[in-house]
Amino acid sequence: MYGAAPASRSRLEVRGLVLVELVMMVLSGVLLGFVAGLFAFKVKSRWCPRCGTYTHTMPPAAGIR
Ligand SMILES: [Zn+2]
Repeated sequence: MYGAAPASRSRLEVRGLVLVELVMMVLSGVLLGFVAGLFAFKVKSRWCPRCGTYTHTMPPAAGIR
């Protein structure tokens, strides 16, 4: 029968868990921001920046300067 684990050990484990959780939170936040930015850029690119109309059937490759 094993008793309660030493306080120092459990505290260390808790600290490691908190650290892992923190890293996961930061990573997920960064990923979320990245995806949101990408999505925003994609949505933004759906409209012409000049006339504001919906995407042109063919992109004006020439004449952009
Ligand atoms: Zn346009």
